[in-house]
Amino acid sequence: MNPDFDVLIIGGGPGGSTAAAYLAKANLSVAVFEGEKFPRPHVGESLVPATTRVLLETGVMDKVEKAGFLRKYGAAWSTAEEREVPRNGFTGMSYDWTAQVRFGERAQPGVDREYTFHVDRGKFDVILLEHAESLGATVFRETRVIGADLDDPGGVQITCRSGGEETTYTGRMLIDASGRQTMLGRQLKLKVPDPVFDQYAIHSWFEGLDRKALASDPKDIDYIFVHFLPINDSWVWQIPITDTVTSIGVVTQKHRFREANTDREKFFWDFIKTRPDLYEELRKTERVRPFKPEGDYSYSMERIAGDRFVMIGDAARFVDPIFSSGVSIALNTARLACADIVAASEANDFSHARFAQYEEMQRIGTRNWHEFISIYYRLNILFAAFVQDPRYRIDVLKLLQGDMYEEDPPILGEMREFVTTVENDPDHLWHPYVGSLRASRPEF
Ligand SMILES: Cc1cc2nc3c(=O)[nH]c(=O)nc-3n(C[C@H](O)[C@H](O)[C@H](O)COP(=O)(O)OP(=O)(O)OC[C@H]3O[C@@H](n4cnc5c(N)ncnc54)[C@H](O)[C@@H]3O)c2cc1C
Repeated sequence: MNPDFDVLIIGGGPGGSTAAAYLAKANLSVAVFEGEKFPRPHVGESLVPATTRVLLETGVMDKVEKAGFLRKYGAAWSTAEEREVPRNGFTGMSYDWTAQVRFGERAQPGVDREYTFHVDRGKFDVILLEHAESLGATVFRETRVIGADLDDPGGVQITCRSGGEETTYTGRMLIDASGRQTMLGRQLKLKVPDPVFDQYAIHSWFEGLDRKALASDPKDIDYIFVHFLPINDSWVWQIPITDTVTSIGVVTQKHRFREANTDREKFFWDFIKTRPDLYEELRKTERVRPFKPEGDYSYSMERIAGDRFVMIGDAARFVDPIFSSGVSIALNTARLACADIVAASEANDFSHARFAQYEEMQRIGTRNWHEFISIYYRLNILFAAFVQDPRYRIDVLKLLQGDMYEEDPPILGEMREFVTTVENDPDHLWHPYVGSLRASRPEF
């Protein structure tokens, strides 16, 4: 086979565009196939600072800065908890269990600014895709990949559909960056639903929310806010998109939506009403987009690489979005995978073994995210206590910044031990606050 390109990439979201940028910079010929017409709306609007290293490395940071996205200096959690919760040996806690972190409290290696961004994904994804193109990647827009043939040792072939016509392209290898559509995972039947998380979200954009009224400290108004609801495992995100537009999403267990047997709008407002402070402010605003549901998330793959292919970003695995991890995972898995791909290209060997380093790092990162998120759901007051206690704050902040690629970080071990003790002791002061989801440390 004399392939058309070195590397074919399915999907022009943040993962696919970033991989294309790295590979083009390494002088590989690369083609990105994006099924949608850009710009298009997309969920996943609040970044964590671990994206900064990647945006700097691919050289797109200046363009992101110029776009004027709102700067995100930190994150805040507000709670509906009205009971007096026993302090249980923790210090530094505010009376109402709200917690805030400012990213600048911890210097992050390779990250040169104290903020990241909240982004309109329509605009952000265009910037990343056009940047890859400017570096030499070929982009096929409105071109959907409908199948991949991976069996020929000489290279891969994909079939695409565009404007009613089918075309084939060949490459030395394939990256699946198709997001939650998991094109390759579905074709190869590798997708495994997460046994614990089966969450569901409904979200929209609102004009005119008074973010100051909802912030306990005025300097936090442009933080992401996670508002806990007084319903187990349920929360609301508040992400500033512009000075006047705010993205609001309700997240809960999927079965609650089925059981409510109502329409999206009523379901959304019924959940918001459980936090009267939030409801009072949100009802004064104007919704400027249709409500959008997001289901089908939280899954892994039996494997994320094989001969002549790797999966990155959401196409490889999806963990619950409570800590805004998704875009960072997409960018960082693109970075890690491309290091192996460039080495494979130099060796002219695209066999599975070549991607072992990537597989290992992806496993470490997503396992840490998964466990951090599980601990939050198992006992969210524990998370608030750890964030506020000066003994643990900086180590938790490291995770919230997205620095997740270390095997078994000690802070996770401490949180794991604590939550297990509370769960196993019905007389523990905090036992009444245990959530309904349970998760052990995943074995992947
Ligand atoms: C409810 C919810 C809230 C979230 N909140 C956040 C958040 O606050 N912060 C955050 O960082 N992340 C968040 N995420 C996660 C975030 O949306 C994703 O992790 C991120 O978009 C992954 O990037 P990606 O490039 O892997 O996939 P995507 O961004 O989904 O991009 C995949 C692209 O592939 C294209 N595509 C798919 N199939 C094909 C095909 N067959 N042929 C051609 N093109 C194809 C799609 O059109 C799409 O453009 C959230 C997710 C959910 C569900």
